[in-house]
Amino acid sequence: MARKKIVAGNWKMNLNLDEATQLIQELMQSPIELKENKEVVICPPALYLEKAIQQIQGHSNYSIGAQNCHQLTNGAYTGEISASMLQSVGAEYVIIGHSERREYYNESNELLAQKVNTALAAGLKVIFCFGEPLNIREEQKQNNFVKQQISDSIFHLSEEQLRNVVFAYEPIWAIGTGKTATKEQAQEMHAFVRTFIKEQFGTECAENLTILYGGSCKPDNANELFSQKDVDGGLIGGASLKASDFKAIIHAINL
Ligand code: PEP
Repeated sequence: MARKKIVAGNWKMNLNLDEATQLIQELMQSPIELKENKEVVICPPALYLEKAIQQIQGHSNYSIGAQNCHQLTNGAYTGEISASMLQSVGAEYVIIGHSERREYYNESNELLAQKVNTALAAGLKVIFCFGEPLNIREEQKQNNFVKQQISDSIFHLSEEQLRNVVFAYEPIWAIGTGKTATKEQAQEMHAFVRTFIKEQFGTECAENLTILYGGSCKPDNANELFSQKDVDGGLIGGASLKASDFKAIIHAINL
């Protein structure tokens, strides 16, 4: 089985319903026909999931994902959304471990492990984000930092479960800053991650694992990043909010 290449768009807390509808309409007007083993995942705010799912219907290899879910299955948690709710409206993916959730909502590696479990048990696929802050990169300690994030939240999974997880390496210093990791920095980290996944889960799992890069990925740098051996596409923030930019980035996995 060949490794899947994915471009995922994380809209964060942006766009009203009309703007969200318009953006997907623009993406789906003369959509990029995706080749085998290529996938596009659009992650709008939870409120727009159902509408987005209707809008992509009939377009193969386009999926919809959520940006977060609760760690528990249900209960008295006012304002929260469970993984099974997301699954029940037709979401296929959920982003877990985004640096903004780690930082602003104090989501720890242990809590994220619980979220991963709950999401997988509900039948969702997980886009698991990890990455180091600037001070850790400056001290050249990024490898240990990332390995810890992944081992705490992912290593308890079975090989079977890991098949439903996509990784996203997002160095925090590159998110929304306009400062992209160089293709060499991205490749080096992705190769490092794949190597320790191989040690933990075996060669087949590691070779099939999709590892996305995220952090100021744009039409003008997507090609060089995605052409690296271990970079299997991108998780895109700002540039996923503009149809022409997002399409140009999608094009870079579909060559
Ligand atoms: C993100 O937040 O996942 C992200 C990659 O953002 P941006 O592309 O805007 O840096």
